[in-house]
Amino acid sequence: MNALAPYKRLTIKIGSALLVDKAGGLRAAWLADLAADIAALKAEKRDVVIVSSGAIALGRGLLGLSAVALTLEQSQAAASAGQIALSQAWAEALGRHGIVTGQILITPNITEERRYYLNARTTIATLLGLGAIPIINENDSVATAEIRYGDNDRLSARVATMIEADCLVLLSDVDGLYTAPPAKDPDAEHLPEIKVITPSIEAMAGGAASHLSRGGMTTKVEAGKIATQAGTAMIIAKGTENHPLKALTEGARHTLFHAAQSRAQARKRWIMGTLAVSGTLTVDAGAARALLTGKSLLPIGVTKVTGAFERGDTVAVLNPDGMEIARGLAGFDSDDARLVIGKRSDAVIELLGSGNRGAMVHRDNLVLVGAKEDSNELG
Ligand code: GLU
Repeated sequence: MNALAPYKRLTIKIGSALLVDKAGGLRAAWLADLAADIAALKAEKRDVVIVSSGAIALGRGLLGLSAVALTLEQSQAAASAGQIALSQAWAEALGRHGIVTGQILITPNITEERRYYLNARTTIATLLGLGAIPIINENDSVATAEIRYGDNDRLSARVATMIEADCLVLLSDVDGLYTAPPAKDPDAEHLPEIKVITPSIEAMAGGAASHLSRGGMTTKVEAGKIATQAGTAMIIAKGTENHPLKALTEGARHTLFHAAQSRAQARKRWIMGTLAVSGTLTVDAGAARALLTGKSLLPIGVTKVTGAFERGDTVAVLNPDGMEIARGLAGFDSDDARLVIGKRSDAVIELLGSGNRGAMVHRDNLVLVGAKEDSNELG
């Protein structure tokens, strides 16, 4: 069975131990085969976003740092040197298939603060739209000890949910989750499918890490919680052999964590439930009708702005009678919003420059009030 068949947008996380050998060298032949797998997925019109570890592991070798445990300063320096080599390796490997790569280095504030989050999301979507493949890693060389992911398992889960990937694939040195650590327990059984991550599933994950990566099975199950709650399925598969993604399409063993709810539901719940409304946008009757048919809210349809908000804050959309008809994430801050209401898109560009993103609230970031679950399919 082709494990990747159901998915249109994949985030694929590659662990350090796959990309870098024990001597600190790049596993170039393995990467070349993986790049061929990725090119094949792309040829099937699937969006692929890569989260790649390996900066610290490569940088160690480059800088001649041979200590078993590096100090924080040393690993940050190693990440700095290694990230260049890592990006270059990806650019070359995918470049052979005519694919351009874009590098994005992330720290937790980017995935957790809405304004950064929206910007990063737009950049990733733009790269994908241009046919490029984003290569993402944590910005290890500047991340502070307290504010960092530290493991790319959870980082990749946040990235996957941020870009609304329908599946996160963690390529690792094990082929999935077992009832106990398989290296220690000969009776450990492989679990092909996890419907709900219960405390007993978490307990099975234990804490074993592989020789290079920071995360063990624990951070993978943590990643599973982040992903599945947001409507993204997760697969843990063994990546050490050549062509690991092709293997997954041909039935290789893995563990599938089912998404707990659809992405549209998760997003809707997030917009409707967990964020405070920082302002309102009153719209004219034409715009109110357009919203009901699933259109974005454009500046020209807005007649009044109240409140003080940043781009990405939640705003309520009111009809001419003052009734809330939708809620969504603002595409402009309140100052810019006040400047552009009632204006056509070309005038908006003239006022704010072509860098702005056009919609007052993009349809992907908009939830109709009272809409039935899933009737307003987002994203
Ligand atoms: N960001 C780290 C690196 O590129 C890897 C973190 C991890 O192994 O999960 O070296």
